[in-house]
Parts: sequence; structure tokens; C-alpha cells
Amino acid sequence: MRIVLATGNKGKLREFKHMCQDEVVAFSDLLGEFDIVEDGDTFASNALIKARTIYEKLGEEYLVISDDSGISLPILDGAPGIYSARYAGVGVTDKDNLYKLIETMKEKGVRATPAYYTAAIAIVSKYGEYVVHGWMHGDVIDEARGNKGFGYDPMFIPAGFDKTLGELDDDVKKKISHRAQALKLAQPIIQMLKGK
Ligand code: IMP
Repeated sequence: MRIVLATGNKGKLREFKHMCQDEVVAFSDLLGEFDIVEDGDTFASNALIKARTIYEKLGEEYLVISDDSGISLPILDGAPGIYSARYAGVGVTDKDNLYKLIETMKEKGVRATPAYYTAAIAIVSKYGEYVVHGWMHGDVIDEARGNKGFGYDPMFIPAGFDKTLGELDDDVKKKISHRAQALKLAQPIIQMLKGK
């Protein structure tokens, strides 16, 4: 069974390839690029929408993994949350979203505030569908520091650290990230499905 990642996000793809023991292929290498409408109201439902869409196109020989993720701020009632990829609007870049969140904090007069990342990983194969979650807690600050990671990383300081994910080594994020936590739960499921 070939493992295919249902994401076009280069940052996520890089992290998955870095973290997975198995060989993973991006769906776009097999099917070309196309947009998937993510109209679910939770991370889990959006992850399932992505994985199901790709699985239906590829067929039974494939095991499809997808990730839906985002950052949530309690002072914003959980926003951007599932709208993290389009916080600054439709068709915007990761940088636009980052600076929009910094702008929102400045408008509120907040220099630092608690935040957390969520990742839902969906696994779809002929043997059924699974979803697991992972989280990473910390604080966001009202400026961007460093250029490692992607998305909101330059403004996010993980709990227990004094630097942003834009400044910390990729290996640190690999150990503590929401995606890494979710993948830890996904690995035994993937191995079990591969062994069937
Ligand atoms: P998705 O591709 O619809 O799941 O959107 C996820 C969005 O959440 C990305 O575009 C980023 O803006 C943000 N995001 C998710 N995970 C991370 C991360 O590990 N670092 C920084 N931003 C992230």
C-alpha cells in the first residue's frame, strides 16, 4: 500500500517527510495540483474531507493521510482556528495571515497571550477511516522573530522555551509540535493498516 499525503502545503509536507519513517508521496505528484473545498466545521472533519477526496481519486491500493491544522487564541474565542489558512482572506499567503494576527494583537493592545496549535490527522484506506489529534501550547507575541518553520511560527513561543519557532531549530519543533504529537498516534494505525 502506498502512503500518500493529501496536502499541498509545502511546510507541512517538509515536516511530514522529516517525521515519517515510511516513504510518503504528495498527492500532487500523482494527481497534479487542485483545490479541495474544506467546508467542515472542525479540524477533524476538514482532515477527513481532504483524505477522502484524494482516496476516492486514487483507489484501494493507497493509504491517504491528511492534516488539518491551525492556531487558536483564547482571547479571540479560538480564532483563527480552522480558518488559520485564510485568516487574512481567500488566496492569501502565510505571511499575510501572520501579519494579520500580529495586527489584531496590536489593535487589542496585547504584547503576548496564550495560544495553541491543533493538528487533526485523518487516515483513509480500504479498511476504514481514523482521525487523531495533537496539540502544542505556548504564547504568541506581537512581532515576527526568525524565519524557520512556516505560517505563524515566527510569532509562536512554545511553552518551556524563550524563543519563537521561527528562531528554534527544526529538530525542536519536530519533537514537540502538534503535528508530531498527532503523528505519534497515527503511526501505529498506519503500521497496522499496512500489515493487513
Ligand atoms: P490547512 O492547510 O487548511 O490545515 O491550514 C493550516 C494553516 O494553519 C496553515 O496555512 C498555517 O497558517 C497554520 N498552521 C498549521 N500548522 C502550522 C505550524 O506548524 N506552524 C505554523 N502555522 C501552522
